[in-house]
Amino acid sequence: MIDVRSDTVTRPNEKMRAAIASADVGDDVYGDDPTVNALQEFAAELLGHEACLFMPTGTQSNLVALLTHCQRGDEYIVGADAHTYKYEGGGAAALGGIQPQPVPFGVDGGIDLNEVAAVLKEDDVHFARSRLLCLENSQHGRVQSLDSMRAARAFTQEHGLKLHLDGARMGNAAVRLGVSLKAVAQCFDSVSLCLSKGLGAPVGSLLLGDRVFIKEALRWRKVAGGGMRQVGLLAAAGQIALTDGLDRLQEDHDNATFLAERLAGIDGVTVREGWTQTNMVWLDFDQDCGAALTLRARESGVRLSAYGRVCRLVTHCDVNRDDLERVAAVIREFFEQ
Ligand SMILES: *Cc1c(COP(=O)(O)O)cnc(C)c1O
Repeated sequence: MIDVRSDTVTRPNEKMRAAIASADVGDDVYGDDPTVNALQEFAAELLGHEACLFMPTGTQSNLVALLTHCQRGDEYIVGADAHTYKYEGGGAAALGGIQPQPVPFGVDGGIDLNEVAAVLKEDDVHFARSRLLCLENSQHGRVQSLDSMRAARAFTQEHGLKLHLDGARMGNAAVRLGVSLKAVAQCFDSVSLCLSKGLGAPVGSLLLGDRVFIKEALRWRKVAGGGMRQVGLLAAAGQIALTDGLDRLQEDHDNATFLAERLAGIDGVTVREGWTQTNMVWLDFDQDCGAALTLRARESGVRLSAYGRVCRLVTHCDVNRDDLERVAAVIREFFEQ
């Protein structure tokens, strides 16, 4: 099976499996796991933040960031199509009493700071307290510029807000921008980063911020059920993902461009122009045929997820150009039959 549903489907490579097998471990709830501690210190240095926490998932990283920045009755401002708002089960509201204030994403997947200014609330008993702005980079595979992130930083400082990055795929964003992870991360008070997507680890995410923030986040991670024990087994794979994974992402981006080119000119299919910036290709169909395509592709050995008139294809370390030729051929055959 060729799987282009997501970059989360990758299997750990031999080097990761060997590192898992030989990892030195301890009880991380006691702070005793040397492999976790080493990863956290390495990542803090790499991203230029004071401290770091290894987390089970990106969803929990974002949730813990929200719980740490915001109190009950506070609000965070977030893109209306953002993962933190739309795809995390309403966790901040359900578990933290934190009110989301969505604002529309622009056509490039960025947030217009004028839109944010327009929804900011005054200090008045009628209103929730505006506390935090959340950005996402990459957003549906599209990358926000360093300038736009720096502008958000200046804006939040001016308005007394904190700034969080849902950087599940910030490695892809940094590679596309040709800058370091640190250059991106330093625009933010806190950053979450997934090890389990394009970087190739089986499990894991990182949350970074200053020492005071991470101390409080450690408490919320425990409350959220994310205090894990001999988790150096996973951190060992995460370390390799962070050390080796970043340099490989350009290949995924090149492969996505290759796939987009192969899909050009099929009747009934539009490749979203300008969206193939990292490891994703987005398609729009003239007809509501997503379910039928998903089924047909599966019968032909390709796993993809198309819904209604939309399809997102994602490249990663377990698909090569031959696989992508096959994906393109299966989609073409479906529409040309
Ligand atoms: C995948 C993803 C997350 C959540 O990560 P999980 O590890 O799947 O919980 C958060 N934000 C974005 C933008 C993502 O793509």
